[in-house]
Amino acid sequence: MKNSIDEYKFRKLLKELEAKEGRGTELISLYIPPGRQISDVMNALKQEYSQASNIKDRRTRHHVLDALTSCMQRLKLFKSVPENGLIIFCGYTSTGIPGNENMEIHIIIPPEPINIYLYRCDSKFYLDPLKEIISEKEFYGLIVMDRNEATFAILKGRQLRILDTITSGVPGKHDAGGQSQRRYERVIEQMAHEFYKRIAEYAEKFFLNSDVEIKGVIIGGPGKTKEDFVKGEYLHYTLKSKVIGVIDTGYTGEEGIYELVNRSKDILQNIKYIHEKNVVQEFLSNLAKGDSRITYGLNEVEKLLSMNLVEKILVSTALGDLEKIIMMCPNCGYSKEQIIDIINENKVLNEVCPNCGAQMNIKCKQNLLDEIIEKAEANNVKIELISTETEEGEQLRKSFGGIAAILRYNITE
Ligand SMILES: [Zn+2]
Repeated sequence: MKNSIDEYKFRKLLKELEAKEGRGTELISLYIPPGRQISDVMNALKQEYSQASNIKDRRTRHHVLDALTSCMQRLKLFKSVPENGLIIFCGYTSTGIPGNENMEIHIIIPPEPINIYLYRCDSKFYLDPLKEIISEKEFYGLIVMDRNEATFAILKGRQLRILDTITSGVPGKHDAGGQSQRRYERVIEQMAHEFYKRIAEYAEKFFLNSDVEIKGVIIGGPGKTKEDFVKGEYLHYTLKSKVIGVIDTGYTGEEGIYELVNRSKDILQNIKYIHEKNVVQEFLSNLAKGDSRITYGLNEVEKLLSMNLVEKILVSTALGDLEKIIMMCPNCGYSKEQIIDIINENKVLNEVCPNCGAQMNIKCKQNLLDEIIEKAEANNVKIELISTETEEGEQLRKSFGGIAAILRYNITE
């Protein structure tokens, strides 16, 4: 995904497609990988067409055949499959009123290559390969350790894979007394040293020489053994540079890994949202310096956007929960614009005209975030989408109305 706006739009599209439903099994999903000949796909669709002619239910048959015809017509417009592949969703989707289904077709060129060929006819569109594109893709290496054992795991999103546990055989501290006590302690130190070397070798095998690229390493365990390990010259320098956290846990072993995952949430969250945090922090520090190219608040920013004075906006994803509605009186023409929470939409439906008392109608409504993105894109304004997952993001939402702008020029009032 190129940037946060592309990702936002892609997620939105998936959500819309996910809500679609056919009356029967009549919604077509077609995934074509790059390199596939259009003519091959056409032939496959012709076969599907002749098979669909045998569908017993008259209306389902009619719907499937219609959808296949539309697919073929659209496919004909392509000379070759785009380099990321091509996806077609097509069919009559339910509007809630039986017999009143709408034919719709969506042609999607995925933001990343999809490498499957798939034809499916079902009551829903098949979206799993597209969902995979927006799933967490970053891998983190985890180690929990003490002097007795070390356990290795890899974390990807919410998926945790425990890899291995190794043990040291280092005995606990005994009180042998005198001369032999000191010798005994030296032996134990030597054994611990050897164990750290082995841990580092395993870490290298799992996190450096594996088929996945590890973005960061988090090391946990009870006591200060883990710190000795991290500070010592054990870990490969590449892995050492990737250590993003050293965290106390009460346990070792698998239990320790689960504990480490729980305690690492903040660290992982910070890494994921580091760009957003930096963007907001930069805005706040410029604001504190009194930079007059900075402004915020919905009305102000929208006004400046339409005057094409804005270079960059910071906009909170929270604005996606709001809707701009224009209500109009059919009797006297009075109109009123308001911004409401989407969940409160029903409340405004019964509003009456303050002039003549007639029931007002919704003239138009649009998602506030979509509207701002559209306006910004039309004026070539750089957009930074800021989630509410961080303190900085919350601050943008609460203290600045969810939107701030950096202007092209210094405008003195
Ligand atoms: Zn009226």
